[in-house]
Amino acid sequence: MSVIISDKLPWYYSIRWRLALSYVLISIVPLLIFIFTIMVAIEDYFVRDRIAEIQPRALIMSDIVTRFNFDTRHIETRVRTRSADWGVRIIVIDYRARVIEDSNWAALDSLIGQTLLRPDVLTALAGNNTTELRRGEENVLYVTISTRDEISGRNGAVMLVANVDDIYASLAEIRTTLFLYSLAVVLAVFMLIFVMSHRIIEPLRKIVRVVQRMRAGQLNLRIPVVSRDEYAILARTFNNMTEKLEQVEKTREEFVSNVSHELKTPLTAIKVLSESILSQDSVPEELSREFMQDISSEVDRMVKITDDLLALVKVDRREQSMNITQTDLNELVEDILKRLAPLAEQKKVVLLYEEVRLVQIEADEVKLVLAISNIVENGIKYTPGGGTVKVIVDSDHQNAYITIKDTGIGIPEDEQDKIFNRFYRVDKMRDRDTGGTGLGLAISHATVLLHNGNIRITSKPEEGSAFVIRLPIRIN
Ligand code: ADP
Repeated sequence: MSVIISDKLPWYYSIRWRLALSYVLISIVPLLIFIFTIMVAIEDYFVRDRIAEIQPRALIMSDIVTRFNFDTRHIETRVRTRSADWGVRIIVIDYRARVIEDSNWAALDSLIGQTLLRPDVLTALAGNNTTELRRGEENVLYVTISTRDEISGRNGAVMLVANVDDIYASLAEIRTTLFLYSLAVVLAVFMLIFVMSHRIIEPLRKIVRVVQRMRAGQLNLRIPVVSRDEYAILARTFNNMTEKLEQVEKTREEFVSNVSHELKTPLTAIKVLSESILSQDSVPEELSREFMQDISSEVDRMVKITDDLLALVKVDRREQSMNITQTDLNELVEDILKRLAPLAEQKKVVLLYEEVRLVQIEADEVKLVLAISNIVENGIKYTPGGGTVKVIVDSDHQNAYITIKDTGIGIPEDEQDKIFNRFYRVDKMRDRDTGGTGLGLAISHATVLLHNGNIRITSKPEEGSAFVIRLPIRIN
């Protein structure tokens, strides 16, 4: 079954777009904060500047009003000319909060004669100056100066009212300009990142392209490692993984070919034997019997191969199939030896057992029995009559050691690391005759590895071999 993987991404999922948009979002927030802060500062500056301009004029007016003792006949023209000169409205208020002069005397909103009970007026009557900015449809600045009335001995007020709409018009202009500039900056940043991100994304695209071709079956391809960044790590890791995959594939092919080959030999033998019986009209009873026995032993051999293969599959399935229990290793080895005693006897090989220490270990008993049996059985198989096979059980505080020592034919040095390979036999013909499948040591090795142990070999041809199995007492 093939899975169809879509390689087309909607644009908003692409790293390039997301990168550029994230940068834009990240730059917009500080920009807005910046614009806001700077606008507040500029407004403050403009308003203070205007107050600094108006306040001295208000003081001058206040002096004049005091000098003429709030006498409208004297102040009227002065108020009106100053108001025209300065472009501000001037209001004079007596100590009862009544407006006695207003430069807007002719306008509809003239306040002359009205009593102004506003907080700023009351504050001035109490002796304090105020400035107040009123924002609204019109933006107006009120500068109110407490003005001494010598006759009543109390305070009146002079109020200068300035329209500051011009300030807010300038501020609006500045704000628009700042926004436009910011927008230009953000757009420039976006485009720059979009273009630059091409350099970041391109190596990733290359990797994807190679992987796609590999998916299509070109497993021998490799990703070129051109940089020294994370992409290089990714490329190297991926190449490494591909090599492992290839290795697995190769091992699998080898394994299948080995299995077929191993099964083919007995099958061919069966075919030859059965055909030679069939091709003759009358086969002597004795010959036919002999042939049938040969056929039967070839079938036994095939059964042994399939049994071993099944055992191998079981250890290959790893931890999930482990059934760990506290195991008495001495008893386990003694049982194995008892079971193999008839084989040793038949081969005239002396089987010895030495118990240096009593050892309890955590192990999958069934698997371990098979692993140790295979090695002891090999010892018996590859030791000529009259020789000995000795099994020693020992331990230190962390590990158990099972040594299987024989006085057999030995294993040449350059073969020693190969004998754990599946179907490997030192001498193909001879070892086949001993009934071996070439799978026994592979099973033992895989089982010991599953128990986090290892197997060491020392061997000399014609002198004998020693296999030392080390198993941790506690598996973890
Ligand atoms: P087999 O079923 O053929 O014995 P094994 O996997 O058990 O397969 O062993 C692989 C090969 O290692 C054997 O064919 C044999 O050549 C060699 N071998 C294993 N044990 C011994 C031993 N004790 N002495 C000499 N050769 C051995």
